[in-house]
Amino acid sequence: MSLDLPNRFPRHPLAFFPSPIHPLPRLSRELGVEVWAKRDDIASGLAFGGNKVRKLEWLAADALAQGCDTLVSIGNIQSNHTRQVAAVAAVLGMRCRLVQEEWTRWDDPVYDKVGNILLSRLMGAETVLEGEGYSTAVKPTWERALEQVRREGGKPYAIPAGASDHPLGGLGYAHFADELAAQEAAAGIFFDTVVTATCTGSTQAGMVVGFGAQDRPRRLIGIDTAANAAMTRAAVTRIAHATAELVGLNREIRDAEIEIDPRFAGPDYGLPDEATIAAIRMGAQLEAMLTDPVYEGKSLAGLIAMARGGEIPAGAKVLYVHLGGAPALNAYHRAFA
Ligand SMILES: *Cc1c(COP(=O)(O)O)cnc(C)c1O
Repeated sequence: MSLDLPNRFPRHPLAFFPSPIHPLPRLSRELGVEVWAKRDDIASGLAFGGNKVRKLEWLAADALAQGCDTLVSIGNIQSNHTRQVAAVAAVLGMRCRLVQEEWTRWDDPVYDKVGNILLSRLMGAETVLEGEGYSTAVKPTWERALEQVRREGGKPYAIPAGASDHPLGGLGYAHFADELAAQEAAAGIFFDTVVTATCTGSTQAGMVVGFGAQDRPRRLIGIDTAANAAMTRAAVTRIAHATAELVGLNREIRDAEIEIDPRFAGPDYGLPDEATIAAIRMGAQLEAMLTDPVYEGKSLAGLIAMARGGEIPAGAKVLYVHLGGAPALNAYHRAFA
């Protein structure tokens, strides 16, 4: 069953969807498992895009309908999400205020100057560097930023971290499932195993709902990148239930549909371990597919370990969902020294 979301909810186009799918032949040969990628990292012309653009298409339509003039959001200093909010604000002709917190202690003198934050500033966003520590809770720093926009006479549109804990946050990746099903039908393939990074939760939650509406079951593996799998699970569960309700799934999401693997998150949010770095090098050297130390290097490390260890069996058809993140690479040059 297709959820038919584009005909039921307003969406403002910001990307070149469907994002491409393609095989990864050299990685597949190395792992003994057939692996393809779905490239949400290269699906938008807006400042390198990424998974937040897919979610923001639905929030942007809402912001426009409400007549808002300023997008306000929050993330880590090297947040991909806030960079994508800055990009969306630019093309909508809106202002943008971004709270950039310190979610990770990555000690580099240019960490708050290059990569994502540089791009956000280039696109005209105001970046406010305050606050620390990753959590899905509502932050006083974010409330203050919203209040300040109001005081200055603006009409803010509030976008939570990762565009996740928002009533429309799950729509993008619920629709992703239908987009994928159409590509599978055209290519004559079915991916029985899908691997995605997960953190603020609406990417995986949307997929849980979208795949949950399809007839043929598949295994969706969320690789935790928050280094707090309990918090990630709570977020994915909450958003999956809310999104199922919103789109009219007509059944409860079962706990077993939400698989979150804690083993590849590294020492903390934003900090890679050796497996992350090895996976990033492998993706780059075998497929020229660039992944980052915060998210996609960790999900790729998970895929590699599970394929090598037999947890993903030979004969499986695996889809690696690439959600973006490479713009942070320069801020992490020391990890590759
Ligand atoms: C935000 C992000 C994720 C995690 O997605 P959530 O929806 O926050 O779970 C994964 N990869 C990249 C590159 C991201 O920017």
